[in-house]
Amino acid sequence: MTVSRRRKRVTRLLSALAVFGALTFAIGAQTKITAPKNRFSLDDDVKLGRDASGQVVKELPLLGDQRVETYVEGVGVTLAGAIPPEFRHPPFRYTFDVINQKEINAFALPGGPMYLNRGMIAASKVEGEVAGVMAHEISHVALRHGTAQATAARTFQLIDLLGQIGGALAGGTLGSVIAQGTSFTAGTAFLTYSREYESQADILGAQILARAGYNPRDMANMFKTIEAEGGSRGPQWLSSHPNPGNRYEAINREAGMLRVQGNANSGDFESIQARLRGMSPAYTAEQIAKGQAKGGTQTISTASRTPVRVTPPATQYRSSRPFPFLRLNLPSNWMEVAGGDTGVTYAPEGGYRADQGALQGFTHGVQVGVAPRGSGNLQRDTDQLVVAFAKSNPDLRRQGGYSRETVGGRAGLRTSLSNRSDITGQPEAISLTTTLLGDGRLLFLIGVAPQREAETYENAFRRVRQSVQLSDR
Ligand SMILES: [Zn+2]
Repeated sequence: MTVSRRRKRVTRLLSALAVFGALTFAIGAQTKITAPKNRFSLDDDVKLGRDASGQVVKELPLLGDQRVETYVEGVGVTLAGAIPPEFRHPPFRYTFDVINQKEINAFALPGGPMYLNRGMIAASKVEGEVAGVMAHEISHVALRHGTAQATAARTFQLIDLLGQIGGALAGGTLGSVIAQGTSFTAGTAFLTYSREYESQADILGAQILARAGYNPRDMANMFKTIEAEGGSRGPQWLSSHPNPGNRYEAINREAGMLRVQGNANSGDFESIQARLRGMSPAYTAEQIAKGQAKGGTQTISTASRTPVRVTPPATQYRSSRPFPFLRLNLPSNWMEVAGGDTGVTYAPEGGYRADQGALQGFTHGVQVGVAPRGSGNLQRDTDQLVVAFAKSNPDLRRQGGYSRETVGGRAGLRTSLSNRSDITGQPEAISLTTTLLGDGRLLFLIGVAPQREAETYENAFRRVRQSVQLSDR
C-alpha cells in the first residue's frame, strides 16, 4: 500500500511539473534553431577561416587602435560567452578586429575571426547596434553556415573550398574583393549567405543578444540604418546578408519572446565614437582596392590652439570603466581623450590638446590613473605623486593640507593645488584625490579646471569621486 501511495504522489508531482513546465515554455518560448547539414569537420572550418584571415590581414588596413580594439573585443567576448551551449564548438576561437574602412560592413570567417569596419561603429547609434551586427555574424559562425553552404553545393572537399579562395585571389585579391563588395565570386561564397541562413542568423543573433544583456531590437534598428544608408547600390553588407523578407518584424517578434538578461552596456560607446571622429578619415573601398591604404596606428587630430569656449560639465552623467577594476560616472559631454596602462583622461571638446595621438595636456576634465607601488602608506605615496607631477608642471603648488575622503568605500585623501596651464598660460585649479588599491598601488583622480571656473568644476569632480566603485579585492 505504501508503494502505491508513493507512486500516486510521484505521478501527481510529475503532472504538476508538466503543467509548470508548459507554463514556463509558453512564457520563455523562443524559436528553436537547427544548424544546417554539414559534411565538413569543425577543424575544416578553423583551417578555412585561418587561411582566409591571413589574406585579409595582409590586404585590409587594420585600425590598430588599442582603445577601440579593446572596446570591440569586450563586446565580442560578452556575446561569444552567450552562445547557447548546443552551438558552442571547442576548436572555434572568436577574435575581433577593426578595419579602417569607411563603408558600413562586417564579416566573420569560419571558425571565428571577425572583422568590423570602422564605418559600422560610426553609423551605430547605441552599443546594442554594434553588438547586433556582431551577434548576427557570430551566429553564422556558430551555425557553420560557410561550410554548410559548400555542403549544399556539393563541394565536399576542403581542398575545393581552399581552391575557391585561390580563385578569388586570382580575380583580384581576397581583401580587395571584400573591401569593394562588388565582384563576389565563388571564392567568397562562405561570406554570401542564402535568405534561409539569414533568417537563422537573425533569430540566433537575437537570442544571443538577449542572453548577453543587449536588447535584440537594437539589431533590427541597425539593419534599418544599413538599408537607409545604402544609396543606389546598397551597402555591401546587404549583398552578402540579403534581407530574408520581413526582417525587422521577425527580429522584433523574436525579441518579444525573449527576456534580456541584465545589462551588458559598457557605457563607453560614446567616447569610442568620439575617439573615431578625432582620427584622420577612414579609407574608402576604392582607396583600399588601389592599394593606397595603410594599416596601423591612427593619429588623433590636434585640438585647436585658438581659445575655444568649453561647454560646462553636463548635468547628465554616464558610466565608464577606465580599468577592469574601476567604474565611475562622468558628465556626459566628457569623452575619453587618451588612455593607457597607467591613466585615462576624460575631457570636454576643446578642453585638451593632443598631438600625433598623444595627449599633451588638458585644461578641463579628469584624469584617472594608477601610480606604481610605493611605500604602501597612503599619505607618503600621495606626497611622492605630487613631487612627480611637479616635475612636468614647474608652477604646481600645494594649497593647504590633506582632508580625508572616502573613495569607493575606502579611506582616501584629498588636496587642492594650483598651477599655471602650459596650454593657456592661465592659472588653474587642481583637485587631487587618492586611495590605495588592494595590491598596494596608488589610485589617483586629478580634476583640472581654469581658476575662474574652479567652483563649477569642483561640483563635477565631487560627483565623479563619489561615484567610484572598486572591485580589485
Ligand atoms: Zn548574415
